[in-house]
Amino acid sequence: MDYIEAISQSYDLVLKLEDRGKIANYIPELAKVGPDKFGVHITTVDQLKFGLGNYQEKFSIQSIAKVLSLCLAYKMQGEKIWSRLGVEPSGTGFNSLVQLETDNGIPRNPFINAGAMVIIDILLSNLGDPKMELLKFIRSLTNQQNIDYSRTISNSEKSYGYRNVALCNFIKSFGNLENEPEEVLNFYFDLCSLEASCEQLSELFLFLANNGKTKHDNTQILSLSKSKRMNALMQTCGFYDESGEFAFKVGLAGKSGVGGGIIAIHPNQYAIAVWSPKLNEKGNSFKGMRFLEEFTTLSQQSIF
Ligand code: GLU
Repeated sequence: MDYIEAISQSYDLVLKLEDRGKIANYIPELAKVGPDKFGVHITTVDQLKFGLGNYQEKFSIQSIAKVLSLCLAYKMQGEKIWSRLGVEPSGTGFNSLVQLETDNGIPRNPFINAGAMVIIDILLSNLGDPKMELLKFIRSLTNQQNIDYSRTISNSEKSYGYRNVALCNFIKSFGNLENEPEEVLNFYFDLCSLEASCEQLSELFLFLANNGKTKHDNTQILSLSKSKRMNALMQTCGFYDESGEFAFKVGLAGKSGVGGGIIAIHPNQYAIAVWSPKLNEKGNSFKGMRFLEEFTTLSQQSIF
């Protein structure tokens, strides 16, 4: 079945399913989003572009942005970043404190909150204007100038982010942050507040399906080896404590966020983004997960 047919059939099927998920409400602004939003968009390396539903509406991409901050830090600093964080699935919640105690402040991977904070610290130490330079980097991936941070979302998270404050201070206490926790947290909340549509996301992430090179201007963003490693990390650590399940049922590299978005990559083929705000008990989009499972089944294309 071709991609358009597989997307159309999967979309219709999942649209009718009872949504047993719940909107994330620990960030008050996220709770205001329409619970029935559902969008999907694919961009392939040979430039097929196809979307359905709310695919042009921007939403809060939350942890999906952690892939982009990691790309920039990895591009700038290379393999030495791995002395400060690991590449193993954590097997615990994304905002867990317990492992940090036994691991002496070295986060298990860059996609749990602790790991993303260490990456943010690296950007703060190595860029003159980190917030703007990260945004410039992200926009350059697709030429989309209207991707931006949301002050409303970041302020909303800032005012309730007690656990992230604890995590950040905890890492600092082990000496694994060069900058002050307050600075790291401010940038971390801004990172999580980035907004993009499914259409923009699938275009942003296409370079990871294209061996590290953008399609719109042929820029080698990451080397072949780094691009492969980014996909490997998404495959093993991209879905909180449900990464194994995603590999098992969907079979793509990917990353989710508590805004209900998922980006998934099939190397050498496509990037596909799906958004539906209600989350399953592991924090991943209930319908998004189901949609991608149907899609890889019907298209008979996965990385395995
Ligand atoms: N800003 C969210 C937090 O730190 C990100 C969570 C997520 O999307 O995984 O709690």
